[in-house]
Amino acid sequence: MKCSKCHRDAILFQRYSGLHLCEQHFNRDFEAKAKRAIREHRWIRPGDTVAVALSGGKDSSAVLFFLHRLLGERRDVRLMAITVDEGISGYRDPNQAREIAENMGVPWVTATFVDEYRITLDEIVKRRGTRLSCSYCGVLRRALMNRIAREHGVTKFAYGFNLDDEAQSVLMNALRGDADRLTRPMREVEGMVPRIKPFMYIPEREVALYAFLHVEGFDLAGCPYAGDALRGDVRGILDDYTYRHPATKYSLVNLGEALREPERVTGEGLRVCERCGERWVAACDVPTEQSRSTEGAGPEVEIPEGSRVPRGKICRVCQVLDEVRKKA
Ligand code: SF4
Repeated sequence: MKCSKCHRDAILFQRYSGLHLCEQHFNRDFEAKAKRAIREHRWIRPGDTVAVALSGGKDSSAVLFFLHRLLGERRDVRLMAITVDEGISGYRDPNQAREIAENMGVPWVTATFVDEYRITLDEIVKRRGTRLSCSYCGVLRRALMNRIAREHGVTKFAYGFNLDDEAQSVLMNALRGDADRLTRPMREVEGMVPRIKPFMYIPEREVALYAFLHVEGFDLAGCPYAGDALRGDVRGILDDYTYRHPATKYSLVNLGEALREPERVTGEGLRVCERCGERWVAACDVPTEQSRSTEGAGPEVEIPEGSRVPRGKICRVCQVLDEVRKKA
């Protein structure tokens, strides 16, 4: 089959657009969609330091390649990669991620659960089972990413989430009847590093193709603890339905965006954890990237802007660590 835009051989058929695309026109189309997502959300600004959360899998490797191509020549934006090693045996060898970043000449840093929390995800699963493994993993990884961000002046985290991931999340929230999550505004929380998702309008199979075309040595293995049954069901339903109605995933993502208005959370919700002294946002149950408060601070501590932050209960990370360190 020939490309719909030139006479070269096509490497992809997009059911939702009806176009056959050769390699050159596929790359052009792919990168135009990713740039549009960045432009529409005003995700990258002069002075930013963008850190790709690089697992070494296809999505994060592709987003690193794309951003390197987009930002490589810019002097006003810095790009780096961060790899967190959760301690899952046989999954995510940090050396693969390091090689991918080094091949592109992108600065790379890494950190491990075992150094930070003195426990690996394998040990957590052994003690608590797999049911909540992703919840524990997510809270601890995010806190660790925020600490690294603080040390390196990171202003944006870039993730490789694609159209399929986004559409599945919208449909899952609808099927659970979770109106709160469906309509919860995309929060830009003061003190938290915002997340950007340049591939949110690009189907997973196209992200995989882009990775195959441009990145060597990425990892295809899945996490052994990724056992979200509902997401698996939703993926199947959505893929079937999209085969007959090719624009469905785009419709769901557009619906999700229409239901969520951006909102800025101010310092009002900020609290200081009674145990570790980390500032965190009670409303979101997440730690912030603000630096740790001084030891022995009283019931209230000063934050740089001059406002006061009340001390109150322990943060989500300390709660998780209490839970996972308990013997089963
Ligand atoms: Fe962590 Fe779950 Fe992702 Fe595995 S699938 S790395 S447990 S969040």
